[in-house]
Amino acid sequence: MAVAPGISEGKVLIHFQEEESIPFRDLQDNELDAEVARFEASLLATRGELQALQERLAESAGSGDAGIFDAHLLVLEDPTLIDEVIKGIRREKHNAEFVFHGVSHRFIKTLSAIEDPYLRERAVDLEDVARRIIRHMLGKSGHHITGHDRSHIIVADELTPSDTAMLNRDNVAGFVTEKGSKTSHTAIMARSLGIPAIVGLEGICSDLENGSVVLMDGYSGKVFLNPSPETLAHYQQLAQEKEHVEAGLETLRESDSSTLDGRHITLAANIELPEELDEVSACGADGIGLYRTEFLYFNRSTPPDEEEQFAIYKHVAERIKPAAVIIRTLDIGGDKPTECLDLAHEENPFLGCRAIRFCLNNPEIFKTQLRAILRAGVHGNLKMMFPMISGHEELLHAKALLAESIKELSERGITFQEDMDLGIMIEVPSAAISADILAREVKFFSIGTNDLLQYLMAVDRGNERIAHLHDASNPAVVRILKTIIDAAHAEGIWVGVCGELAGDIEFTPLLIGLGIDELSASGVLVPRVKKAIRSLDMKACREVVAQALSAQRAAEIYAFSTGLARTRYPDLF
Ligand code: PEP
Ligand code: MG
Repeated sequence: MAVAPGISEGKVLIHFQEEESIPFRDLQDNELDAEVARFEASLLATRGELQALQERLAESAGSGDAGIFDAHLLVLEDPTLIDEVIKGIRREKHNAEFVFHGVSHRFIKTLSAIEDPYLRERAVDLEDVARRIIRHMLGKSGHHITGHDRSHIIVADELTPSDTAMLNRDNVAGFVTEKGSKTSHTAIMARSLGIPAIVGLEGICSDLENGSVVLMDGYSGKVFLNPSPETLAHYQQLAQEKEHVEAGLETLRESDSSTLDGRHITLAANIELPEELDEVSACGADGIGLYRTEFLYFNRSTPPDEEEQFAIYKHVAERIKPAAVIIRTLDIGGDKPTECLDLAHEENPFLGCRAIRFCLNNPEIFKTQLRAILRAGVHGNLKMMFPMISGHEELLHAKALLAESIKELSERGITFQEDMDLGIMIEVPSAAISADILAREVKFFSIGTNDLLQYLMAVDRGNERIAHLHDASNPAVVRILKTIIDAAHAEGIWVGVCGELAGDIEFTPLLIGLGIDELSASGVLVPRVKKAIRSLDMKACREVVAQALSAQRAAEIYAFSTGLARTRYPDLF
């Protein structure tokens, strides 16, 4: 599956997620000094690697985020740990990896068992650093995901969203994974960062070797090993054609996102990190329709406090004003775990304590974020949105915590925006079905189609084996979208789509025909969606919807919507 557009050529770099296997060797007395020196050298090399990472992160994300490596650097200076390993090598006469692995695991186990959350976090730091040290001893440090350049294509079984958050167009030419799907957060992130990506290529890690040259086509999902001169020439031409279409879209940057007959659709961009703000301005979006704030909580050992969050939200608000920014509150869990929050292990994380459920169980973490958003509100045009709402009581509970946050700020005498528009994501079927009830409580809805389809059709959004079932053409999807949009309009509130469907121009006719008021997509896709909107009219789109509502098969619905799309903007396909 091609999940982020672009064509790249590069050298394969296989990234292993799983634990390294630890070799075991007996040593002779005369080998012990050298083994100790090898261990010490790996500590130094790890220090260098962490410092380089810290500098890179400070440049791209600011010094607050870069602070996460301080705790990791401290582990490298822990005299008890180092002493035990050196003594262990001399006493047991075993190789350094083996001894270090044993000692560090004992430390991790002890720390994890302690009640104090601070010390438990140190266990996470130690685990992370221990993995780096072992990789250095095994001579595999070069395989770490960052620290490369544009000449590499990362090939992996799976990348986590936090891995992907460390990548950018300067350190990777593209990535290819065995697992994942179009709506997995790793794919979403790749699109946002403009990194070509292909997922769902089972067996690719064993089919390729480090250093092999591949060409990847992020439009069709093909990977060519040792591409022939003909293939390269073909793709060079294709890349030029794509550039030509992109240049054409560029001219629409300042134009209005209205249909031919004048219906205005607000067209916004989704972001995960403040680094993407340039892209938002460049793509011609009308503000930000979804700011996934959970990315702030990745790759660090402690969650961001109120001041840090305030500074970041203020920066985003100021950059985008007078246009609106919809800040979604923490949507952690599911396929977005993080080390810095105490998420319990769950058998079914997507059905577990994720997003608003986690926040309601951890009111202090939630209110810290709410206060930061409310304070940043005076610096721009911010709106707030709760994820994963499944019913009325849950929404009232979240609103009660919002009221508490407002009260706390008033008592502190701090300026903040009291009447900020509040909306919810509709991404759980129960919320969709009771949309008429929920609409009375908020100012807007934003439909999260990634999760809505996942929960509606019981199809894991990240599983490549059943990705074909995550299909917006299913008659059930059309009906549920209609239920939500009609309920919102009956209550006089606006409704948008911020899931990946918003950026899929094959379905723009259907969404417009259903009466959607806003679409929010990855910045790279915004120009295409704008062109699609400007090429359609309400009458034709409503006809697509009428046909779709009476259709029995997904294939028919797909044909109705894409039929109109391909007639009106053929050059975008
Ligand atoms: C969605 O579920 O459609 C959505 C936009 O939220 P996320 O992809 O972050 O879960
Ligand atoms: Mg979601």
